[in-house]
Amino acid sequence: KPLVFSGVQPTGNLHLGNYLGAIRKFVALQDNNDCMYCVVDLHALTAQLVHDDMRSQIRSITAAFLAAGIDPVKHIVFNQSQVPQHAELAWIFNCVARMGWMERMTQFKDKAGKDRERASLGLFAYPSLMAADILVYRATHVPVGEDQKQHLELTRDIAMKFNLDFEQQIRPSGFGVDITVGDQPVHAYFPMVEPLIDGPAPRVMSLKDGTKKMSKSDPSDLSRINLMDDAEGIAKKIRKAKTDPDALPSEVDGLKGRPEADNLTGIYAALADKTKTDVLAEFGGQQFSVFKPALIDLAVEVLAPINGEMRRLMDDPGHIDAVLRDGGARARARAEKTMTEIRDIIGFVR
Ligand code: ATP
Ligand code: MG
Repeated sequence: KPLVFSGVQPTGNLHLGNYLGAIRKFVALQDNNDCMYCVVDLHALTAQLVHDDMRSQIRSITAAFLAAGIDPVKHIVFNQSQVPQHAELAWIFNCVARMGWMERMTQFKDKAGKDRERASLGLFAYPSLMAADILVYRATHVPVGEDQKQHLELTRDIAMKFNLDFEQQIRPSGFGVDITVGDQPVHAYFPMVEPLIDGPAPRVMSLKDGTKKMSKSDPSDLSRINLMDDAEGIAKKIRKAKTDPDALPSEVDGLKGRPEADNLTGIYAALADKTKTDVLAEFGGQQFSVFKPALIDLAVEVLAPINGEMRRLMDDPGHIDAVLRDGGARARARAEKTMTEIRDIIGFVR
């Protein structure tokens, strides 16, 4: 079975972008794959070191995974800091990756802002830890939002460079497999990961600005719909969402240059499991005063059960911690197997 890995940072309130871009895909992938879903708490230190509510954030992301329908018995749900092999492999990848590769990362540029000198070294090295999260299990499929595409390309570059740099050691180790990359045959240790970024809302935008990604860390709560928002909160935010004065177009082409209309159409399509074309066939020619109430009803219908189940789970932190402990132990066993092989390939004496 293909191995799926993905992670979510415990950096704030989960929102509709996290749900549509990531968590909902996690749920759908469970039938035909072996899945590992991780609360990446080490990543949460990169932008801000001290978190007053780290424990409750970790539990709330875990609760969201479970509430959305992830099965922690058939699959593995865990938090990153319980598997120290992620950090060990990240160090090795820090020595594989090049400064120039990291400097091109748009997430670093966005998050570091103007004052780059004051960004943490961890924020700069973030993609290296992300590559380790995935490759420490030699996972092949990674469901993420569109914003993570560049980091997954970097993951492939890191895997490829490791494979080529250590080819002479990988071959006699017996741990490698023959793969072709493009038309180049390589005796590889790490597979080439495939990002899974499809769907009508791969990049959900802020409700206040259709050119900015909806984010946990956006200071304005009105910019996002949180999974924990109640029906009234969802209604208020959608009613206040920025739009232009025109009616919805009848075809997808008509959304060009209308980022807010495009965003709301995409959100509706994703929530209804339809395409934007379907949605515009239904609502083309209608004003937002008609479309927004329909969107509110749909969003409430999809999110209310998840919201209710999250609240129920959050009342029993002992259960959540037990899920993470169990998942952590199973993940550690897998990660240690890989690290034993990698230490051998590199030539560390044990
Ligand atoms: P932060 O602002 O702290 O980075 P975030 O909202 O970007 O928070 P992450 O934990 O970094 O959340 O990302 C978790 C997953 O959610 C990733 O797969 C990411 O691609 C996806 N994701 C995040 N924001 C969006 C969005 N606006 N649309 C679609 N997917 C998203
Ligand atoms: Mg992010």
